[in-house]
Amino acid sequence: MAESSNKAEYIVGVDLGGTKVLAGVFKNSLECIGTAKVSTKAQRGVDKVIERIARCVQDAIDEADLSMKQIGGIGIGAPGAVDFGAGTVIFAPNLEGWKDVPLKKELEKQLGVPVFVENDANIAVLGVHVAELKAKPKHVVGIFVGTGIGGGLILNGELFSGANHTAGEIGHMVVDVNGPKCGCGNKGCFEALASRTAIFQQIKAGIKDGQKTLLTEMLGDDLGDLRSGDLRKAIRRGDKFVDRVVEGAAEYIGIATANLVNIIGPEVVVLGGGVIEALADEMMSVIVETANDYAMPGTMKDVDIIASKLGDNAGITGAAVLARREAK
Ligand SMILES: [Zn+2]
Repeated sequence: MAESSNKAEYIVGVDLGGTKVLAGVFKNSLECIGTAKVSTKAQRGVDKVIERIARCVQDAIDEADLSMKQIGGIGIGAPGAVDFGAGTVIFAPNLEGWKDVPLKKELEKQLGVPVFVENDANIAVLGVHVAELKAKPKHVVGIFVGTGIGGGLILNGELFSGANHTAGEIGHMVVDVNGPKCGCGNKGCFEALASRTAIFQQIKAGIKDGQKTLLTEMLGDDLGDLRSGDLRKAIRRGDKFVDRVVEGAAEYIGIATANLVNIIGPEVVVLGGGVIEALADEMMSVIVETANDYAMPGTMKDVDIIASKLGDNAGITGAAVLARREAK
């Protein structure tokens, strides 16, 4: 992507997640020079979350020893349907109360810098495409597994948003019509079966049914502040139950991958998000194997299924790419 030299020298990328807000200050070259993180605390309400985003941005700028005046634009990835033109979050299934939230307007009022809002997974795949995939493949599917599951599509080298700017909602592809309820109100969505939320629910339900797991030894009976990294530790210490649950989620990710490869025919399927970052070693081989089992014969030829090296930074990198493109 060609960039003109009169663009702002520094930009900020923000990844608004259901669990945490991550902000990064980037040079125009996309080198990250400062980050900050706060928990989202969605249960405190929309206004409080917006205040926390503003604080997180200020912390990241402070971390980079810069001031707000030096920032040309702020890109934000939000976990749901976004009206890019208006800068509103139409609906976010993993953020309580987020319906038609004018995020751009509110943050511009608080920070005094142009703000650009996109769907989080859309910009994460954009970030991976611009900053990581040096061969610049034309067709890429991104699957980001965290609190929910986001998806993004690069088609013919461009981010594809569809007619309503809602394309790529891979997490809400129904993969089991009799499956568990999803945050979107539907049943059996991919994210209701393989997101961190789904994995944690299955583990908690198993414990209630008497399953033995090292997690209760590590964290107490209610599992306290359970994180994806705890699952990795438990599996590496031989926890068969956690291993089975994580493998089940990996199988669903493989099935979703096969569906998407059948439909899109990408060169690369890139997996990211906090769950993949923590559990790539445990999940990737199952994902690749299952995807190959379920894909139509011939469709998997020369398709790379990879874990993004940007890890949890894919979102802030993509948000910075967006801000760099849009900031005047
Ligand atoms: Zn859903």
